[in-house]
Amino acid sequence: MIIILKDNPEEKQLDNLTQWLKSMDLDIHFSTGENTTIMGLIGDTSVVDIDLIMALDIVQAVKRISEPYKNVNRKFHPKDTIVDIAGNKIGGGNFQIIAGPCSVESKDQVCRIARDVKAAGAGLYRGGAFKPRTSPYAFQGMREEGINLLMEAKKESGLPIVTEVMDISHLHLFEDVDVIQVGARNMQNFELLKELGRMDKPVLLKRGLSSTLKEFLMSAEYIMAGGNEKVILCERGIRTFETATRNTLDLAAIPLLKEKTHLPVIVDPSHATGIASLVKPMAMAAAAAGADGLMIEVHNDPAHALCDGAQSLTPAQFADVVKAVNLILPHAFRG
Ligand code: PEP
Ligand code: MN
Repeated sequence: MIIILKDNPEEKQLDNLTQWLKSMDLDIHFSTGENTTIMGLIGDTSVVDIDLIMALDIVQAVKRISEPYKNVNRKFHPKDTIVDIAGNKIGGGNFQIIAGPCSVESKDQVCRIARDVKAAGAGLYRGGAFKPRTSPYAFQGMREEGINLLMEAKKESGLPIVTEVMDISHLHLFEDVDVIQVGARNMQNFELLKELGRMDKPVLLKRGLSSTLKEFLMSAEYIMAGGNEKVILCERGIRTFETATRNTLDLAAIPLLKEKTHLPVIVDPSHATGIASLVKPMAMAAAAAGADGLMIEVHNDPAHALCDGAQSLTPAQFADVVKAVNLILPHAFRG
């Protein structure tokens, strides 16, 4: 439920209203804009009598809203959230491309690709050190050593680092990482989300393989409820009956999420399709649909990549995608 207050509400009356709502075990989230103050009530609002609140002098309107998420809800926070990563902004008209290999494989590989994607126009660098693999016999990532190599690539290229955490017990290794990624398989690891909510670090939250948009937003709500407002959503394709592509890219999720939330929404066309030749058209489609950025897998030698080579672009192919995407973006839409 939200309560929209009249301009300049009388302080004593506002205090009385606040105390009364709190006495009903409700938490209150205040959103103060230039002209309007909105109170978002968190908790069981079924006990609240709308007519009684409407009758108060300081109240302009009361609305029951059905969404169970408050912090991520655009209704409480109409302005786009801009997440600033070392000066690279995402959201609110700022577009960023995150690129890099699926996994960190060696110092030479990770530093070389960082240089190449930076030259082509990437604003952030990705690379997996901890890899969630379907098979326990597949390459599991270089783990701590992989994070160290990413730090070398950061030092050399100057690009901020995005990398995935798989377990809460590894979080101490992510101190110098710029953006912590929560992968699709961990989207509903609620204890991990709560811990990330207590941190002051941007989180890139990927949509679960079979998660609805409501579940996706509720997971973002977990992080924001802990006080961390720097959340970026990533649509990366969902499971459908179709097997021709690795996943099915849910393009409609982009404008729909942006209607429902103020958080930036980016798209990963690499995992969404699993096929390198489809990355460019899907990246262009995502940009045209209003995404705030892209995450694209790039490898210097896709045929020999230890993970996800089939969907990885060469640096030259990546440069071509950046050019094509820039043609689609509204003028000056780069953070
Ligand atoms: C990744 O980005 O490396 C990854 C594993 O993606 P997802 O969690 O979307 O499968
Ligand atoms: Mn991958």
